[in-house]
Amino acid sequence: MTTSPTDQAQPRLVDRFGRVATDLRVSLTDRCNLRCTYCMPPEGLDWMPGDEVLTDDEVVRLIGVATGHLGVKEVRFTGGEPLVRRGLVSIVARTREVAPEAELSITTNALGLARMAETLAEAGLDRVNVSLDSIRRETFADITRRDRLDDVVAGLEAAAEAGLGPIKINAVLLRGVNDDQAAELLGWSVERGYELRFIEQMPLDAQHGWSRDNMVTADETLEALSAVFDLTPAEEPRGSAPAELFHVGGTAAKVGIIASVTRPFCGDCDRVRLTADGQVRDCLFARTESDLRTPLRAGASDADLAGRWVTAMAGKRAGHGIDDLGFLQPDRPMSAIGG
Ligand code: SAM
Repeated sequence: MTTSPTDQAQPRLVDRFGRVATDLRVSLTDRCNLRCTYCMPPEGLDWMPGDEVLTDDEVVRLIGVATGHLGVKEVRFTGGEPLVRRGLVSIVARTREVAPEAELSITTNALGLARMAETLAEAGLDRVNVSLDSIRRETFADITRRDRLDDVVAGLEAAAEAGLGPIKINAVLLRGVNDDQAAELLGWSVERGYELRFIEQMPLDAQHGWSRDNMVTADETLEALSAVFDLTPAEEPRGSAPAELFHVGGTAAKVGIIASVTRPFCGDCDRVRLTADGQVRDCLFARTESDLRTPLRAGASDADLAGRWVTAMAGKRAGHGIDDLGFLQPDRPMSAIGG
């Protein structure tokens, strides 16, 4: 029997609770062209200095280590906004070469996707997750501080045309802003064949403005949707997926609820993150990270990098700890971690 490098690789990214990370989120930049109120201030943030950001070669090298030596099976490019990364298409194409079997996806606000969808599909991207919190022009502009709803809609259409499906839409509901629009967004998404998922707002904003009392809970979202749609829990096992899935109105269409705060799913987590500046994070809420950029630039071998990555994952905590008395928001905001 022949074995692939992945079969031979031991150990994988296993933590002390036995969870195995196979889903890698790679942040390609901390920069973004929207300014969502729940993510960053209107003026943006102090972006990472260019020399700290991994080069295209370095990104592909580390993805190759993860997929070739550590059993990673899915790679999701994120940010910041990954479409603003100049080398994105080449990074996708080269990732496809080093990881021909991996599922490659991108989480994006879809600005510019209308232009890039086909090229990304040709480069080997499998699918897209698009963030969209409202289909009302004014609400969209209020949340993102940019009047770009049409670009997002065009990006979604282009992604569908390019075969980058199933297309998922991520939405965050904000009290008093768009929490009255959950059913409208779902109807719109179902009509177009997009799978919508509502994500509870998490304490990851740069301004530290999150409050539990103000957060729209998964139960509130379900209640709002159920007033309009007949929702039935999907039967397929959830596995490590963060979304609880429901069929909409007895059809095959589904909606997902990601109750990150009120019903955490950390026990089934299979994710690991690589920041744009080459730090491994074992959790969105991690208080520590492990530097791969320094050894990479110092000439470390793949085996050495893989070993460091394994060590980095071993200390993953059992849960994100938002409910712990001593909870502290991570120093990095979501945009600099990679959502
Ligand atoms: N720019 C890309 C995008 O818009 O999809 C990728 C990065 S963005 C940080 C990824 C996702 O994180 C988006 O769906 C966004 O709505 C979500 N997000 C940002 N801040 C969040 C927060 N505090 N709680 C929950 N989701 C958040």
